Amino acid sequence: MKLYNSLTNQKETFTPLSAGKVSMYHCGPTVYDYVHIGNLRSFLLADFVRRVFEYQGYAVTQVMNITDIGHLVSDGDDGDDKMTKALKREGKDITLENMLALADFYANAFKNNLQELNIETPHFIPKASEHIDEDIKIIKQLETKGYTYITSDGVYFDTAKMADYGKLGGINNGNNENRIAENTEKKQSADFALWKFDNNQGWDSPWGQGFPGWHIECSGMGIKYLGEQFDIHTGGIDLKSIHHNNEIAQSESATGCSPFVSYWLHGEMLNFRGEKLSKSTGGNITLAVLKDQDFSPLDYRYLTLQTHYRSPMEFSFEILEQAKNALARIKKDILRLKKENPDTKIIDIKNHSYQKEFLEKIQDDINIPQALAVFHEMMKSDISDNEKLSLAYDFDHIFGLGLEQLHEETFAVPDRVHELLDERANARKNKNWELSDTLRDAIVQEGYRVIDSGDKQEIQKL
Ligand code: AMP
Ligand code: ZN
Repeated sequence: MKLYNSLTNQKETFTPLSAGKVSMYHCGPTVYDYVHIGNLRSFLLADFVRRVFEYQGYAVTQVMNITDIGHLVSDGDDGDDKMTKALKREGKDITLENMLALADFYANAFKNNLQELNIETPHFIPKASEHIDEDIKIIKQLETKGYTYITSDGVYFDTAKMADYGKLGGINNGNNENRIAENTEKKQSADFALWKFDNNQGWDSPWGQGFPGWHIECSGMGIKYLGEQFDIHTGGIDLKSIHHNNEIAQSESATGCSPFVSYWLHGEMLNFRGEKLSKSTGGNITLAVLKDQDFSPLDYRYLTLQTHYRSPMEFSFEILEQAKNALARIKKDILRLKKENPDTKIIDIKNHSYQKEFLEKIQDDINIPQALAVFHEMMKSDISDNEKLSLAYDFDHIFGLGLEQLHEETFAVPDRVHELLDERANARKNKNWELSDTLRDAIVQEGYRVIDSGDKQEIQKL
């Protein structure tokens, strides 16, 4: 198994800390709003990584945090807290109680999204607000070892004290005039807050009331559930230079164990109209928006299978439509195979030549697009239906499209009715209403009612 490790900038053979086991941490959402499909791309990556290891028989432990406090709008230490901003947006009083209630609401919506996308539920989904003691413990360790200093607004990590600060690269060390102008008390621009003071809200700490910094939260929860060192950490590439370098700095300095994480995997961005999809760029496309436009969450999942996680992906509704059609064709093929071979016994396909090829692809830095190509080739090949279904179900342990669970109802509609529906769609496109009505009657004769909804035809069994 090979993974591209952001620590070394190369593909490396995966060696777990403990044989047969994989421990992984994924930066989860800041729950100040519904997550958008860009965020979801990063959570799908987490799911693919888990599935690829489980497919190979590893016992995986997965942690995905929920940031419900302490995440400022900037990656630095300035600006509003994202949760405070959300309370203002929703016209609520700025209290800790309201903040946690708002977070709970969006955290539940996020968990629903995971289910809708067939993302396996991580074994631990800890909330930052419930792990303040863990954060304080690490900050105390850092303080004892001389890595911290205090300013008027918080406790800071002194990056100059760590010889190899910024292992993941991309650090802007020292020349950021703006940031220096924003916080003149910082010794270096790369220094970051471990604890931020807040006289109105927050938790008690040895340094005063306030909130943990965003970065320390991930160290606190990662170490609590996975130990001082673990195998894999994932997140979007936008988190690499600041958030993840800071996680490494504070964790390794506090525990004395290096490396904190053996393999860092960074997912590329989902872009919309050429820019990273984010709330601030206005491209706030959520799963609900897709569903409103008649897409299923799995259409989006299928779309993400087509681009390698280290390549940026340009989103448009047109390509989602293509993904939707491709998925519909796959389902149709699978259902036909099921229907034509009702007695098909699922056979052991381990070591089948297509399975070996598939395994090679997913072992090569989780190359799901190529694994998908193997799937398509296999479906077109002249191997037996039995082999096809068995291989499709097996590959779907990674794809997560629910192929094995496709229901009878979905394909209860006979081919003849599908043909009539296609003809009728054409007739309607050509505004041939007479033919459209005749075809409607023909469909009724087959035992189905057609309901026109916009451009689409829905059918019900009579
Ligand atoms: P946040 O809620 O901002 O902390 O982000 C949660 C996760 O979504 C992080 O791993 C981010 O890197 C990731 N993320 C944010 N925007 C995008 C995007 N446009 N494409 C892919 N991943 C993203
Ligand atoms: Zn994180």
